[in-house]
Amino acid sequence: MKKELFKKLPKVDEVIKLPEMKELAKNIDYFSFTEGIREGIDRYRRGILEGNITTFEKEDILEEIRGIVTKRSQFNLKNVINATGTVVHTNLGRSLISEKAAKNVVDVITSYNNLEYNLEKGGRGSRYDHVEELICQVTGAEAAVLTNNNAAAVMLALNEFANNGEAVVSRGELVEIGGSFRVPDIMELSGTKLVEVGTTNRTHARDYRKAITEDTSMLLKIHTSNYKIIGFTKTVTNEELVEIGRENNVLTMEDLGSGVLVDFSKYGVKKEPTVQESIASGIDLVTFSGDKLLGGPQLGVIVGKKKYIDRLKKNQLLRALRVSKMTIAALEPTLRYYLDEREAVAEIPTLRMILEAPEKVEARAERLHKLLTDRGVACEAMETEATIGGGSMPGETVESYGVAIEGNSVELEKAFRLGTPNIVGMIRNDRFILDVKAIQENEMEVVAERAAEITGKMK
Ligand SMILES: *Cc1c(COP(=O)(O)O)cnc(C)c1O
Repeated sequence: MKKELFKKLPKVDEVIKLPEMKELAKNIDYFSFTEGIREGIDRYRRGILEGNITTFEKEDILEEIRGIVTKRSQFNLKNVINATGTVVHTNLGRSLISEKAAKNVVDVITSYNNLEYNLEKGGRGSRYDHVEELICQVTGAEAAVLTNNNAAAVMLALNEFANNGEAVVSRGELVEIGGSFRVPDIMELSGTKLVEVGTTNRTHARDYRKAITEDTSMLLKIHTSNYKIIGFTKTVTNEELVEIGRENNVLTMEDLGSGVLVDFSKYGVKKEPTVQESIASGIDLVTFSGDKLLGGPQLGVIVGKKKYIDRLKKNQLLRALRVSKMTIAALEPTLRYYLDEREAVAEIPTLRMILEAPEKVEARAERLHKLLTDRGVACEAMETEATIGGGSMPGETVESYGVAIEGNSVELEKAFRLGTPNIVGMIRNDRFILDVKAIQENEMEVVAERAAEITGKMK
């Protein structure tokens, strides 16, 4: 019996010659292609040997091979469809950049460019010059400098201004973000002594005042991006902190984290402190991420008083933390949208998704529901709770909508996640749900097709 099955296994050479394999071979190098075919045949051989495969058609094995070769032809870092309902999903790459920004990246990096060349003067220029004025225009700051990410921005500023000195931080703000950014650890790395003041839930202006000594280099405020203290609480406002800083001639800095540049409350979403407000409060330096609620590429931005930014630009550490040309190429078009808020809200994907009206999200869920039922997929449109993510708006969910697919939720989740393209959904109350909040327009049909294939096989 087994002998017959073994005989039915095709040879690698035979499979290579099949016309349908020609198409597959186009996307992959020859070595990986033949190895993929071999792996497919081996899997069947093992299955027969172990008794798991007792009958098969040639088409079954070709299907297996197609799957393996397709997987091998993909890059390890690749696009996935985000059906989790979390817009700024740190594990899924945070913000997607706009088409315009993406196109600019391609244009800039597939040719030579003026990254560090001043075309007017015909001599050396600075990479930071390309966006500094724009950042100042948008945020109201005097000057700006960029780093590889916000963690680097905080570290650089601490290293420049509080190395061998003390930085005063409220106990309620000693946060850990995303498992790898821990305020006390960053301080240690920067050679800064952390002075904690106040209590977990309440910190007063007098606590900061009492903590100031001649070693105090900085009063640091950190936006508690990913958690919230509720109940009997008290924090010191930026204005108060600025006043204390001025009285004592100590620099003030705020790590905002998210880098919000539009007032969300105008659009019916919970307010997050904006960079403009922080700068307007008179604080000396503000740091934030580029790929959270700003909706741009991964980077860190430091804005504030020119005399301090100038010092940061001369710090040797900046050389180690500098942003790439790709980052700057993606940032400039993104920031330009902010010159007209209506454009920012319409064109920056992260903002568009966060601020999309619930009726529209609901309509999209209904459309997905129809695409699915048209293909015979048993499912139900439903209201869900999405989150903004990216260490912002802790504890806040926003009204969202999705489609729950009937069937074993664990198996469904796995099949969607491992298919091509990979679709990451979520399980709630034993149901597998595709939340449409972060599904892009051009992904809707693809999701429906995948759902039809997956549920068709499970029947
Ligand atoms: C996210 C965040 C960081 C880290 O920013 P990265 O850009 O991920 O390095 C630091 N501080 C705060 C308050 C944050 O929210």
